[in-house]
Amino acid sequence: MLHLAQKTPPGGSPSPSLAQAEKVQALNTRYRHHSATAVLQGALKNAGKIALVSSFGAESVVLLHMLAVTDKTQPVIFIDTEMLFTETLVYQTEVSERLGLQNLRIIRADGVATHDPDGTLHQRDTDACCALRKTRPLQQALTPFDGWITGRKRFQSGTRAALDFFEIEDGTGRIKINPLAHWAPEDVAAYMDENRLPRHPLVARGYPSIGCSPCTSPVAPGEDPRAGRWRQQTKDECGIHFVDGKMVRTGANA
Ligand code: SF4
Repeated sequence: MLHLAQKTPPGGSPSPSLAQAEKVQALNTRYRHHSATAVLQGALKNAGKIALVSSFGAESVVLLHMLAVTDKTQPVIFIDTEMLFTETLVYQTEVSERLGLQNLRIIRADGVATHDPDGTLHQRDTDACCALRKTRPLQQALTPFDGWITGRKRFQSGTRAALDFFEIEDGTGRIKINPLAHWAPEDVAAYMDENRLPRHPLVARGYPSIGCSPCTSPVAPGEDPRAGRWRQQTKDECGIHFVDGKMVRTGANA
């Protein structure tokens, strides 16, 4: 049982932000040397009402499997931008059925008919399109939750080099849980092999990072795995994750 020490000021309760920071610090200390599965299970016990947010992308099946073997009734949020590859939608259905996920929540944006009636907003303004189809629907879907589980890993980018298991989401105060923070690509592959998990079909066709169809292209050998996301554009983020108040790229699995 985890006991979260809080410094309560004389005559009062700690501020919500201070309490949250101390809670996250205590969780990181408690789980510092624990496995990804233990971190995930610890989050479900100690971090309040939690959802797993999954893109059902190249590496998503690892966390989905960990959650399923722990508790199939835990909420899983999948954002259908309505611009995804057909392969992703088919894979999402197959993986959900195979793992027996019982609380899958498929989220779609409101206002697409008004703000992107012909589906070409991504050609003119990718940030606006991601905000419309991804960021706002996710934030709305997360409203009832105290935190969410992500598949982010330290190796994915410089902004994640010091990623902890538990952190506070900038701007919302929610706890973000990153059970795979310390995993290397080989760990992901080994987990999939050992548990005989199905791969996203586009991985074998040169897509190591999979987002929306119009904004994802295959990657050549030797290229950065994320080079196929928003290729030919300066944009490198979808807006789901924030660092220091700025949107940052999401990597293979948002
Ligand atoms: S990745 Fe592309 S299509 Fe998908 S929401 Fe962002 S801009 Fe729109």
